[in-house]
Amino acid sequence: MTVIEVNGLRKRYGGQVAVRDVSFSVEAGEIFGIVGPNGSGKTTSVECLTGLRRPDGGTIRVLGLDPARSGAELRRQVGVQLQESQLPDRLKVWEALDLYSSFYAEPADWRTLLEEVGLAEKRNTVFGRLSGGQKQRLSIALALVGSPRIAVLDELTTGLDPQARRDTWQLIRDVRDRGVTVVLVTHFMDEAERLCDRLAVVRAGEVVAIDTPANLVAGAEVPGVERPTLEDAVLALTTGPRSGEGESR
Ligand code: ADP
Ligand code: MG
Repeated sequence: MTVIEVNGLRKRYGGQVAVRDVSFSVEAGEIFGIVGPNGSGKTTSVECLTGLRRPDGGTIRVLGLDPARSGAELRRQVGVQLQESQLPDRLKVWEALDLYSSFYAEPADWRTLLEEVGLAEKRNTVFGRLSGGQKQRLSIALALVGSPRIAVLDELTTGLDPQARRDTWQLIRDVRDRGVTVVLVTHFMDEAERLCDRLAVVRAGEVVAIDTPANLVAGAEVPGVERPTLEDAVLALTTGPRSGEGESR
């Protein structure tokens, strides 16, 4: 079952084209990654997916609904972790989770979530006193507190230390194993390789490839590199001259 369908998405900010032509679809139960250089339009694309921005063109269906029209309904079913989420500095960790759970008819148990993201001992700490990594983990917990069918996570592990990154990957796998579809924006290739079933590679607002990490590596043609890694493969797709035959389905 397809849960997300994006076709010919376009979005500009003033004269600046952020998303030129983005199309992809996500199947239920997948961990779907979006990778590409800074400024290639990843965040803008997922903001359109979640109804936070209105596209200039193209169509989006999330669980059959248009996020630009049915944002309120989708917010109940789609958990979002944004790249730069901010909360009031004086809000305590447990208060934030309690507040967010009150928005949902069937929230997850936030005490369990706190354990899972490793913030249990910070439950009484105010947001303004959390480290960058702790804020990040709180924002992941907040994205999951509504027991969403889809979780959209932008730069999930940026700012986390290596152990926290691994813990977070395991958390995301557990979430998926419970049946949640995950859309993950990342520019860490180890994360993309270990976590994602399929990847959309974006370059300057366009999708240049969609495939499994293994197939992207197998199909990579990187001059002078005998056994390319996923990073080599993605770099080859997103830098240098364009191949001119980039897939953008
Ligand atoms: P990514 O997440 O891949 O780094 P973004 O979607 O954040 O890319 O940005 C795509 C392009 O749009 C960039 O050139 C960025 O500078 C521009 N952009 C993003 N957000 C805004 C905004 N709110 N106003 C103006 N330009 C923006
Ligand atoms: Mg971004």
